[in-house]
Amino acid sequence: MRCLHLARSAAERFGLEGVAVPLPGELDRNFAIGGHVLKLHAAGTDPGWLDLLDAAMEHVAARSPGVATPHLVRALDGSRRVAVDGGFARVLTWVPGTPWGRLPAPPGAEALRHLGRAVAGLDAALADFDHPRLDRRLRWNMLGAADLRGAAPAATPVLESFAAEVLPDLRELPAQAIHNDANEHNILVGQDGLVSGLIDFGDVCRAPRVCGLAVACAYAMTGLDVPEREILPLVAGYHAVAPLDPHELALLPALIRTRLAMSVAMAALQHAEQPDNAYVLISQRGVTALLQRLGVAASELERLRLRAACGYEPVPHARAVRAYLATADAGPVCGSPLDDAPAIDFSGHGPPPGGGPALGRYLEDRRLYTSAAFEAELAGERRTLHLGVDIVLPPGEPILAPLDGIVRDAKFRPAAQDWGGVVVLDHLTPDGTRFHTLYGHLDRASTERLPVGRALARGATIGHLGDERENGGWAPHLHLQLLTTDLGRGADAHGVGTLAERDVWESVSPDPNLLLGLPHGLRADPPRAPTDLRAARRASLSRALSLAYGEPLEIVRGAGARLYDERGRAYVDLVNNVAHVGHAHPRVVAAAAEQMARLNTNTRYLHELLVTYAKRLTATLPDPLSVVFLVNSGSEANDLALRLARTHTGSRDVLVLDHAYHGNLSSLIDISPYKFDGPGGAGRPEHVRVARLPRRAEDAEDVGRLARPGAFIVESLPGVAGQIVLPDGYLGSAHAHARASGAVCIADEVQVGFGRVGRTFWGFELQGVVPDIVTLGKPIGNGHPIGAVVTTPAIARSFETGMEYFNTFGGNPVSCAAALAVLDVIADERLQAHAARLGRNLKQRLEALTAPQITDVRGEGLFLGVELTDADHATAAVEHARRQGVLLSTDGPRRNVIKLKPPLVITEADADRCVKTLDAALAQRP
Ligand code: PMP
Repeated sequence: MRCLHLARSAAERFGLEGVAVPLPGELDRNFAIGGHVLKLHAAGTDPGWLDLLDAAMEHVAARSPGVATPHLVRALDGSRRVAVDGGFARVLTWVPGTPWGRLPAPPGAEALRHLGRAVAGLDAALADFDHPRLDRRLRWNMLGAADLRGAAPAATPVLESFAAEVLPDLRELPAQAIHNDANEHNILVGQDGLVSGLIDFGDVCRAPRVCGLAVACAYAMTGLDVPEREILPLVAGYHAVAPLDPHELALLPALIRTRLAMSVAMAALQHAEQPDNAYVLISQRGVTALLQRLGVAASELERLRLRAACGYEPVPHARAVRAYLATADAGPVCGSPLDDAPAIDFSGHGPPPGGGPALGRYLEDRRLYTSAAFEAELAGERRTLHLGVDIVLPPGEPILAPLDGIVRDAKFRPAAQDWGGVVVLDHLTPDGTRFHTLYGHLDRASTERLPVGRALARGATIGHLGDERENGGWAPHLHLQLLTTDLGRGADAHGVGTLAERDVWESVSPDPNLLLGLPHGLRADPPRAPTDLRAARRASLSRALSLAYGEPLEIVRGAGARLYDERGRAYVDLVNNVAHVGHAHPRVVAAAAEQMARLNTNTRYLHELLVTYAKRLTATLPDPLSVVFLVNSGSEANDLALRLARTHTGSRDVLVLDHAYHGNLSSLIDISPYKFDGPGGAGRPEHVRVARLPRRAEDAEDVGRLARPGAFIVESLPGVAGQIVLPDGYLGSAHAHARASGAVCIADEVQVGFGRVGRTFWGFELQGVVPDIVTLGKPIGNGHPIGAVVTTPAIARSFETGMEYFNTFGGNPVSCAAALAVLDVIADERLQAHAARLGRNLKQRLEALTAPQITDVRGEGLFLGVELTDADHATAAVEHARRQGVLLSTDGPRRNVIKLKPPLVITEADADRCVKTLDAALAQRP
């Protein structure tokens, strides 16, 4: 009651009104009041500590940590705190959300990933924070964990191990300010189930940042069924925002245990100090149990999993083993030759009885492991992924050591579906890296004969193949497996792993064909489940690569204007103008495959296809565009076009239209306002000028004002600028202005060429102009990577400076064959006429849509745009359509334009479906 009274009177001094509701707290007395938290700090509270917290909070508030944090609210007189009852009162903003510890269901992988991101973001925001009190003695600072050794018997072994084995390495890591207290009371979760806030800066201290991650892991793990595995998304999320190096990762398991031990020790101490404070014991629920489960030392598997979650090869020395085996002189494992042995599909059934020699593949995902021994850790999960190779041979066949080795373990395991007789050998690479080979399904006598430690020379008999009665009940075969580590299991090593952890198992057990050297290979490479695929992509590919749609698609097949996902669901594709004549068009596929099977070389040899293609391409272009360069992408085409313009005019100045995009090379990011003015862009370079995106033909005067010798480059229908149709007559005047100033005119037809605009074959023809250079890409090879530059003889002549132009892949006969087939299909299937007719139709139907958020419908042929009032409506419509099986995309400077640029072969029925779906999508609320 007294506190409540104090709180109310303190609140007045901060101008706060309303009822003060007490909150649970550790040291302070906290109250919720009018969207704020009022903290009463008892007499004797160190004001220097409060200074530290306030400074840290203000530091973070001034940055963008990627998660909500409390902000300090000053008193009416401007001070950070007011004196109350010998102590102080402070006020913070209320951070909304449900505390992690009070979530109705255990957090899923996405929530954990977000938590990792939040902790990393907050600690990154603190990285440049400093304060005199940051190094104060704080019992929660992990660097001082050894001081807690005597506090609680349950914690002592971990803290001893920390002091002896971890602390010296931990001290080597750079230290910074960290939040240090992402426990279940301080993490707040929003309505969407994702982390929305982190509160309580009371334990801010200076320590290596991985300590902050360990705190978050330790508490999050207490709520998980299989904590060692389920925690991985948290670590991956942290790594995505603040990349962890392998040294930091290596310490993490010990630091997690240390934090748990500190928690146990501190609870013991605090409980002794304040026997009445229930909060002290709250965090203990689960902590002791988790510490017991984890044990003092981390298992090797735990460390491998952490490395895998961050995209590092799980077994650090696996690469050295593979590298050694790639050139090692391994002998045969059996007397029978295996080169011509067929590989049999064992995904559903075991090896056929009495057969031989036949092979069962590495990494095959198998249904045949039905015994309880193949249940895995997660509920419902089973081990199905074959980690060795099966060699089907008659029983009694002698099995030979392929390399010098020493018996590491030999056992007889008679259970059904088990190994029967199994032997594991140790080997060393010349640089001393240890690895193992495993031989399963031997007879019992083999294992009894072999004492651990016995040396076996290459070619020596290890044992003999068992029959069904003593090999676990299988048809006789050898299971041969490589192990970069046996994870401490010896002959109990798993021969089958979980598909979800395929990357870990593949590193633990490399391809046994490294030993066998069979020319046809043994890998099965099963597909990953969609969530595993996402995690693997996140870990191994740059996150600068984006994925389309809130719920990304895994597309495995295409035909015509349809795409199919891994479950066979069909989507109408209105995005992919690359698959111009239809996904996987049989004529293009056959042409490229046939040429691929015959020859692929470069332009330094005469080749019929190169010349034929150049002729066929220039036949589509007006005079004097007659000289061809073949390259590998639209970007390469534009980069070469800039070089041509430069050598021809002697100037590297470039004039572009606003919002344009011309490619991903450095030279093109420099001339693409869409990029240099966008997120992460470095602004407009000196040599680049930007003309306004024209609304009227008269805007060409802007070109007259800005053009210089060099290049004037325009996409014939600006695409990323929002599917813009240039005003009639614009390009004619703009080209005239540019040429008068000494510039050459480049038409970027990468998006719009090859008949897409319907009325003409090339986009620039709609404007009645002839550019000096035309650049081509995307549709030119129907998905095969090829690009082209076509220019005038005069400009081509200027480029003959004595410097050779050589492009390893540009103009190769396979690309030419694909591109030639594309021209054939466009002509033979009359696709330009189809684009004109269907495009006109589609545009009329889009114009007839009545959704109030549509502000414009524009485009030519099958290059159309529907402009909406704002990006939110556009994104919502595109996401809705995706769920209905229609793929669209958005663009434009305000991202409010829905783009339609389907393969030209799209059918009337699919176009119709697209309009109806869009209509329905626009009726949804964003
Ligand atoms: N120019 C334009 C107009 C483009 O849209 C693109 C690609 N979106 C490029 C050039 C670059 O082509 P690529 O990605 O094949 O290098």
